[in-house]
Amino acid sequence: MRRTRTLAGIGIAATALLALTACNSGTPSSTGAPEGGEETSSSTPWTVLTDVTIDGSPTFDRIESAGTIKVGVKEDQPGLGYLDPVTGDRTGFDVDIARWMAASLGVDPEKIEFTAIASANREQAIVNGDIDYYVGTYSITDKRKEQISFAGPYFLTGQGLLVGADSDIKSVDDLSAETTVCSATGSTPIQNIKTNYPEVPTKEYDTYSKCVEDLKNGQVDAVTTDEAILIGYAAQDPDNLKVVGEPFSEERYGIGIAKGDDALAEYFNTQLTDGGDIWQQIFDNNLGASGVKATQPEVDPIG
Ligand code: GLU
Repeated sequence: MRRTRTLAGIGIAATALLALTACNSGTPSSTGAPEGGEETSSSTPWTVLTDVTIDGSPTFDRIESAGTIKVGVKEDQPGLGYLDPVTGDRTGFDVDIARWMAASLGVDPEKIEFTAIASANREQAIVNGDIDYYVGTYSITDKRKEQISFAGPYFLTGQGLLVGADSDIKSVDDLSAETTVCSATGSTPIQNIKTNYPEVPTKEYDTYSKCVEDLKNGQVDAVTTDEAILIGYAAQDPDNLKVVGEPFSEERYGIGIAKGDDALAEYFNTQLTDGGDIWQQIFDNNLGASGVKATQPEVDPIG
């Protein structure tokens, strides 16, 4: 099937999201945890829990004895996972989900060590134990589940196309042997193009931001990945970039963890499910500037 259902509950319209970059400044700061670790800051919707125990989680045991947490993220995806090169601030929906989960494990924000890991290297980083978990536009797939486990999903989106403002490409049906499409190595979108649109020439980089550079320089005709990511790039340069068409896959974002650490997966799922309005606040702070509504998805059963 070439086309699948559009993203559930999100209905992202590219033009409606041009205010996205502005929301980065509204992301809660996660500094200044007072002694005792109850609150991280007045604008942070989550709380650093105390006296946390998780039986049967090797990852939690490591975190507890180290007193630090190692988290894999993206840092070139505005609105989702972004490192400001000037201020050094990390912002984004995924980054805040990662901070929330760290807080739920009893870890103060200054004890989080973030590492940027590209799409193609995520499973290996988790298998190697280089990180305790990964939060970065990471779609839950059966293939990835052969190597790692997931908590979640915590967000739903779908594959889209980013093109130049004056491009004639209006949807995935306009891709052809004459249009080169750029995406990230090891991602579900590049695989989808190769499998279902084999006639379309592809170009790959480790990150989507390099694809966006190529698009702006006229080296490629489109960038493809999840709409939630593409909208962030379009928002940074609305005069030159636009997101077109309907989403043509369903991407369900999970938190990547060590394979078989079901105790941690269950714990994260409980946090996500029982978090009250924390998820909504994180969404509003990072992706809500457009007024687009999204609902938190139900988590998958473990196992
Ligand atoms: N969600 C897709 C994936 O996990 C694309 C985004 C990404 O590469 O992080 O492959």
